[in-house]
Amino acid sequence: MIMDIAFKCPACNQELEVDGSAAGSTIDCPSCSNPVTVPAPETEEENAPASAPPPAPPPAEEKHFSVPVREHASDEVLIKKTNRPLEVAAKESDKTLRIKSFKRSDCQEVGRDRFDEIVSMFLEKVGQTNIVNVSPINYSYLDLSTRTLLTDYGVMVVYRG
Ligand SMILES: [Zn+2]
Repeated sequence: MIMDIAFKCPACNQELEVDGSAAGSTIDCPSCSNPVTVPAPETEEENAPASAPPPAPPPAEEKHFSVPVREHASDEVLIKKTNRPLEVAAKESDKTLRIKSFKRSDCQEVGRDRFDEIVSMFLEKVGQTNIVNVSPINYSYLDLSTRTLLTDYGVMVVYRG
């Protein structure tokens, strides 16, 4: 199972979540439109620290390194569950923007192309009001039978969750 990758847009700090298959690809940030490269997924255990520092060689002399304090987005944002007009809800920026990409080649069953079906089912599940953007994507993949690089298309869905 491919894990989702959670990261922050370096330009606008919007939290983004992308399915693992999109690792390494460049997307336009749905919030600020700057190009963002999706980082590789964490390989460590879920509970392990995000980035364990590499073992430092013994210092030749005593040195004091200043540890940069990690900036934390405020976790104290109160999310009110009141019913608000849709146009207000749509502008909410305190939810994580999630990006899900569908590749057509991943939706092939024997003699059947389920791409449209799978994408429609997903959009229905997310709900129209949570969908921010749906855009086509092109990607290359290695066809294992012919060992050639093929180009195919899919869609990228940006939604709030
Ligand atoms: Zn951004």
